[in-house]
Amino acid sequence: MNEKKIRPEIPSAYWEIKQKQARISLVLFFLLFLFYLLTTGILTASIFIVLSFFFPAFNLLTTGVFLNFVTLTLVISSITTLINFFAGKKEGVKFILNNLRAYYPDQADRYHRTLLNILEEMKLSSGLPELKGYIIPSINLNSLSLLDVDGHPAVAVTEGLLAEASRDELEAVVAHETAHILNGDTFALTLICSLAAFYEKLYSASQTKEEDFRQDSLLQTKKQQTWSPFIYLGSLFSYFLISFLIIIISRNRELLADATAVELSRHPEALARIIYKAHLANSYLGEASLFTPLFLVPPDSREINDSLWDRLFNTHPPVLKRVQLLASMGHKTLKDIVEDIKQQESSRQQARREISSETELPEEKRTAIRQQKEIASAHLEKGKFWLVKTAENKWLGPFHLAEVVSLPYFTPAIRIKNLKDNVEAPAREFPQIRFALYRQIRNQPLDAGLTARCPLCQASLADSFYEGVKIKHCPVCRGKLVNMSDLEKIFARKEYKFSEKIKEQAHQWKQIIQEPGRRKKLLVSKRIALCPLCGLQMIIKPFNYHLIIPVYKCLKCQVIWFEADELEILQAIIESQWKSSDQERNL
Ligand SMILES: [Zn+2]
Ligand SMILES: [Zn+2]
Repeated sequence: MNEKKIRPEIPSAYWEIKQKQARISLVLFFLLFLFYLLTTGILTASIFIVLSFFFPAFNLLTTGVFLNFVTLTLVISSITTLINFFAGKKEGVKFILNNLRAYYPDQADRYHRTLLNILEEMKLSSGLPELKGYIIPSINLNSLSLLDVDGHPAVAVTEGLLAEASRDELEAVVAHETAHILNGDTFALTLICSLAAFYEKLYSASQTKEEDFRQDSLLQTKKQQTWSPFIYLGSLFSYFLISFLIIIISRNRELLADATAVELSRHPEALARIIYKAHLANSYLGEASLFTPLFLVPPDSREINDSLWDRLFNTHPPVLKRVQLLASMGHKTLKDIVEDIKQQESSRQQARREISSETELPEEKRTAIRQQKEIASAHLEKGKFWLVKTAENKWLGPFHLAEVVSLPYFTPAIRIKNLKDNVEAPAREFPQIRFALYRQIRNQPLDAGLTARCPLCQASLADSFYEGVKIKHCPVCRGKLVNMSDLEKIFARKEYKFSEKIKEQAHQWKQIIQEPGRRKKLLVSKRIALCPLCGLQMIIKPFNYHLIIPVYKCLKCQVIWFEADELEILQAIIESQWKSSDQERNL
């Protein structure tokens, strides 16, 4: 393709974009109407034909009946178009953002701040009055542009992309997405995806989620899955709708956006590098496949060739073609780009700081930590003198006060027993329980003396940063308190590398995961621990579905307490899984 053909035109003023958007809106409305006219036409016609076998009054060949058929089709398709168009336009973006679990960047986070700075620069150089940012919590590499709920353009990037991209690459990605915004693609595609999301939304609204918060089971919260043919019909329909609309919209828009991005950021190689990286890494974004036309790289990019079928039905041109084109703009070849990426990766590996394992600490220090943990745990064990009577009249326990009030079936009316004083009564009659409930209502920690203290050794916790994420850590036993919502960031970022000891432990854990018997052993080593934030007893649950390693969790505060090395070992496991899947792809 020669360069002239893909030379884009950047709209010079914002009102030009607005005008373009109005045109796109009109065209899409018309296309949607056409789509419904066709589908309802075929549907009604087949119903009429079937009925005409039994009732001659439905014979389409009669003029009166045919007129009725035309009116009916027109009315139905107009109404459906109107509902779909305006409901989709109103709710679609929210649905897409919810589906991607996207949220605004956090000023306190170093990686997020870089994105915000780049967005600010891009806003100025592109002349857009507003350019918002969104973060998608996924370790995979991708980005997209869309119009926010308030109509302002926004660029969303994954945590994985933020972690992997160098500054010039991130600039190039933002430039690419801004190009889509300027070219009007963002508007068109957001609208198309919103229209299609209408059906997904209808389906998900009809479904209720039931969650299982039982504390004693090792099972994580389970969503009840109800099989329904509607999910398939709905997705099939939205898939056809998207394909129908996208085929009509120019497929050159990715190449066009790449070219505009180069004009905006002047870094063709940087864009080539990050597109190639996203193509090699995983660009899959969960069940958001419906929105693939919005993405920088399609989730199945490795399977797209340049065949006629792919040219017709794929939303993105083959990645290698794009990378080659961009490389040539920077007077480089595909080989140069791959070489640059390799170089970048090796200098990055060298810059990583190594973390050593707790087991590498001097023996006397480890013994001291162990003793302190035992003292703290014995102290908490002493508080375990409460029995609770179940609905089946069975006594359970002994529990710690912090556990009693957080039991899922706890009410002030259940009968409990204080073993220390040997008193049995309804829970509300114990002053300790009343005090605990009072503090819970006021959102105060249960035991003020234990807040911000390590759940296992009771040393004071300190604020610190880990992989650019704010956490609390215990300076004595090296445990870490991490927000569940920050985990994707930590797994995506690679500022640290791990000592051989940690890698060895990661290898052992991988085997433990496969053997239920040994998994129980890990569980037994866990003791009673109170959440440093709310003071309720932390529950011991598997880290997640895939890595069923028991960790301390507080579901109320949405935090996890990792004992020394646990987080690092999990990181090492996830990293090694990435590497092995890379090897499968012969990289
Ligand atoms: Zn500690
Ligand atoms: Zn808590």
